[in-house]
Amino acid sequence: MRVLVIEDEPRMSQLLRRGLSEEGHTVDTCDSAARAAESVRYADYDVIVLDWGLPDADGISLLRTWRADGLATPVLMLTARGSSGEKVLALRTGADDFLVKPFDFEEFLARLEALHRRASAGATGTSALGDLQFQRARRQLIGPSGRVDLTSREFQLMCAFAERPGDIRTRSELLSEVWGAHFDGEANVVDVYVGYLRLKLESAGARRVSIATVRGSGYRLVVSAEPGR
Ligand code: CA
Repeated sequence: MRVLVIEDEPRMSQLLRRGLSEEGHTVDTCDSAARAAESVRYADYDVIVLDWGLPDADGISLLRTWRADGLATPVLMLTARGSSGEKVLALRTGADDFLVKPFDFEEFLARLEALHRRASAGATGTSALGDLQFQRARRQLIGPSGRVDLTSREFQLMCAFAERPGDIRTRSELLSEVWGAHFDGEANVVDVYVGYLRLKLESAGARRVSIATVRGSGYRLVVSAEPGR
């Protein structure tokens, strides 16, 4: 697993880093909400460990922003307090699990692995689309020219198209499915990412699969019997 640990207490952070590395996981650590936001923007993690109390912001506010942005990475929240109200708030905000300090490392590890298993189980299965295979577990497109990796957003967008090939998907539908209902950025982000995904289809060498623009409506994944439609 590739794990991001967001924790400002150096001892705790080191302990988790060492323990996870010994188990063969790749670990990045950061000690503030600002750094965490940056790390998540530029890297794809399998799981995130998020401390509630950070020096520059609440972990819970950070989590709220991520979920509103459509980030689907499983999050395990850590807290020193652990009242039931706090736990409910964390889970309602989009935490996938919750652990009160101090905790046993073995339990921490077991919960983290369970989160990862659940998340990957939801994103498995391979779809055959024309001369292309969409392999969800690996987040890859496999076409005549080879394998192409998708970024997290490209992957989510591809999932949305592959769910209903041939159907028109409106921009607002795609926006809310991939970026979240509360996304308040530029709506043309959909067009930008459709552009990226088209390039990935091209890199994979797909000749029977394309994303067509439906003027005034949105997009449609087209799978045709003949190359190049
Ligand atoms: Ca803390």
